[in-house]
Amino acid sequence: MLNSDAIFPPDTFLASEVVPSPNHGERRGGRRPDMIVLHYTGMESAQAALQALCSKDSEVSAHYFVFEDGRIIQSVPEARRAWHAGEGSWEGDTDVNSRSIGIEIANPGHEFGYPDFPRRQIAAVIALCRGIIKRHNIEPARVVAHSDTAPARKKDPGEKFPWRLLFESGIGVWVEPAAISGDTRLLLGETGEAVLTLQTALKKCGYGITPTGTFDEMTLDIVTAFQRHFRPERVDGIADNSTLDTLGHLLSVRAAFQAYSQLPQPTPASVPPSPSSEPPEESGT
Ligand SMILES: [Zn+2]
Repeated sequence: MLNSDAIFPPDTFLASEVVPSPNHGERRGGRRPDMIVLHYTGMESAQAALQALCSKDSEVSAHYFVFEDGRIIQSVPEARRAWHAGEGSWEGDTDVNSRSIGIEIANPGHEFGYPDFPRRQIAAVIALCRGIIKRHNIEPARVVAHSDTAPARKKDPGEKFPWRLLFESGIGVWVEPAAISGDTRLLLGETGEAVLTLQTALKKCGYGITPTGTFDEMTLDIVTAFQRHFRPERVDGIADNSTLDTLGHLLSVRAAFQAYSQLPQPTPASVPPSPSSEPPEESGT
């Protein structure tokens, strides 16, 4: 049963209800939330999934839960470390839970037919993410899929998740995927410089990969995860031209964005003061 004395004030007015989960702890090593991890629940019923996330025995939780109809529940305060990501890695940190806010999106997932995400649900996810990004100053490249942080174990939220739509709403990074031309470039088992270059690019993207020059199972899983997120039209783990071009384009756009965001921003001191003797202008027209 739910523990009623663990009720806490929600971090956002978008949460219509607080349904507390007992499964959380301190963020470790002084880490603060600076990424968002998106999940699907992967269970036949949303209600059963929420119940599991709020039961002590499950030892899992998420900060937020978004129903198909767009209703948002908060289960763990943002300041606390929820238990949603498990073993994984992003941009070199293996304690993803300590770094992230986790959002569970109700969808039965690949095992149960994987229906499309309803628009109302996505609209709610977008509104929720925008608030979290603002509250914690989260960089676009740090809004990721669970499958991005745990490519060998996870598929969620999967290739049907509308990352492009999120990007158009100011969330995450996205580039138009390069067209698929049916060619094959790099496959499981291949070795060499081109594989090393691919692995280095995936690592730069944030994936937990050690460049070895051998296209191994880990590389296959990570190419698959990359495709699920950034080239969803075909998810096959084959690094074809479209996958390589999309990855290259994504990294160059991210680099350009980072360079821009590191430019000195105008400070109030650099703005010439307006003459104080003149009366303020009417602002309405
Ligand atoms: Zn997940």
